[in-house]
Amino acid sequence: MEEKLQQKLAELEAELKSVEAQDPYNRDSYADENTQDDDAAEREDHTRVNALEDSLKEKIQKVEAALDRCKKGKYGLCVSCGAKIDQARLDILPEADLCISCSNKEQSFELS
Ligand SMILES: [Zn+2]
Repeated sequence: MEEKLQQKLAELEAELKSVEAQDPYNRDSYADENTQDDDAAEREDHTRVNALEDSLKEKIQKVEAALDRCKKGKYGLCVSCGAKIDQARLDILPEADLCISCSNKEQSFELS
């Protein structure tokens, strides 16, 4: 499972790099004789790219945390209640840090 996580981490980091490259604010040409319309479009792109970057960074952190748990021999255990996380769940979401019932609780908490 550690291998799978490392592979996922590499994929996410590559994705993050390609997303960052799409950010108009990261381009050297930025601010070169832009019209106001260009600026508005770039700001919109920047906001969209930033949101993507944030969600990717969040995923990367989760995968890194899961790798850390592998090293400590705690991988596959719910960080909230300590129960074993379903193998089926880990197959889909190798970086899962909560068992299904805790994850459901957290989601309903976020919604309320
Ligand atoms: Zn739990």
